[in-house]
Amino acid sequence: MASAYLIKPHLHRTYPIVQYGKGIYLYDTDGKKYIDGCSGAVTANLGHGVQEIINAMNKQAKKVAFVYRSQFTSEAAEALAEKLNKHISRHTHYWTFLVNSGSEATETAMKIAIQYWQEQGINGKNKILSRWLSYHGITLGALSMSGHPTRRVRFVPLLEEFPSVSPPYCYRCPYHCTYPSCRLRCADELEEAIIRIGAEHIAAFIAEPIVGAAGAAITPPDEYYKRIRNICDRHNILFIADEVMTGLGRTGKMFALEHWNVEADIVTLGKGLGAGYTPIAATLASERVMEPILYGSGVVMSGHTLSANPLSAATALAVLEFIEKHQLVQNANKIGGYLFEQLRSLQASFGWIGDIRGKGLLIGMEFVHPKTKEMIPSSLAFTDMVVTIAQKNGLLVYPSASGNGKDGAAIIIAPPLTMNQEEAAEFVDLLTRSFVEIDHDLPTWMKGKNHHDNGQ
Ligand code: PMP
Repeated sequence: MASAYLIKPHLHRTYPIVQYGKGIYLYDTDGKKYIDGCSGAVTANLGHGVQEIINAMNKQAKKVAFVYRSQFTSEAAEALAEKLNKHISRHTHYWTFLVNSGSEATETAMKIAIQYWQEQGINGKNKILSRWLSYHGITLGALSMSGHPTRRVRFVPLLEEFPSVSPPYCYRCPYHCTYPSCRLRCADELEEAIIRIGAEHIAAFIAEPIVGAAGAAITPPDEYYKRIRNICDRHNILFIADEVMTGLGRTGKMFALEHWNVEADIVTLGKGLGAGYTPIAATLASERVMEPILYGSGVVMSGHTLSANPLSAATALAVLEFIEKHQLVQNANKIGGYLFEQLRSLQASFGWIGDIRGKGLLIGMEFVHPKTKEMIPSSLAFTDMVVTIAQKNGLLVYPSASGNGKDGAAIIIAPPLTMNQEEAAEFVDLLTRSFVEIDHDLPTWMKGKNHHDNGQ
């Protein structure tokens, strides 16, 4: 029974009570079965009830669950940092700072970026540039560099006004250009902003390799990150990749930036690192970034009491071992490819599916006016309807945003990386059934088929 004591996201809504989860499925206390089509909020990447992870957690809990990181390190935390380093780069060494949430990972990235300059005697380089469709976390520092209007709105007077630039949003290009003739106008905007503000005031630029919550898997064109990396290097600012949603296999690569052969100076991880079995996140800083700190103060001033606790570290280590052993990065590619194909054929039947984008098992769907392809009015209500009808039919998808982040209707599809072919077909079946139901009740101006393929 839901009580009046627990604050839930919407106080006027009723939520089903979860009973248990197994694989890609969740079951509520009324016995209803759901496909977890978005891995919670893109977190339960291994699915539910995975015995290997439960065993690893048990084993560590029996040994020691918590030590204070100022007094002890642990074998689990050391091994986790080593494994992350093994996966992230062949060119350089990365140091790992363990925290408990993606928001803390962003805060830590920001602090390390500012400290990097300070340790070299360069003060005043303390702004973080971002993009106006982005989400980097809910704490005030992370929200200051996030362009998620609905999550910012109440706190605007408290936030730092960090400058932001346009996202690489080809479906609705802010410059009304088309790639490649645009010559990456949106990337040039970063350079213009740096020149206008002055690189001497800027510590770093932060970006999600594929925009998540604020942009329903907005995926940049091929040359975008090479250009961004180059601009950051030429102007002497650090590049932070927020891989909290995209990291650890979700997009069909261990790290999403690998799709563009680019490496960041600082990388954040969260969500899939604990895969929902434990709260854990991480900030990884390259050798270049750590060097002045190592030979300077020798202290990274961030973290919370629970940071780097052995139980969370052992869980994350088991998650990474599971990803390796079951080749989940490859599976994300394979099942993602199948889903893209199937969703594109759905797009032909429903004119209000405007764009399907993303990589691997991070797929965004933007809903539009079927004739003009403009944003639909009351788009939040539309997204809500899609999510509600899908949930009624036993399918969980994630409400996202698009357009200007406020008026764009979109969802994210991101099932566990363990999904098999049969489960993917069941997913498509439930989504199709939900879309037929939605289409049936739409006003006539919203009906119509797509006669073109505008997917990317
Ligand atoms: N960065 C990104 C890209 C995210 O998607 C999120 C969460 N949606 C965060 C940071 C914040 O993570 P958390 O909610 O764990 O604080």
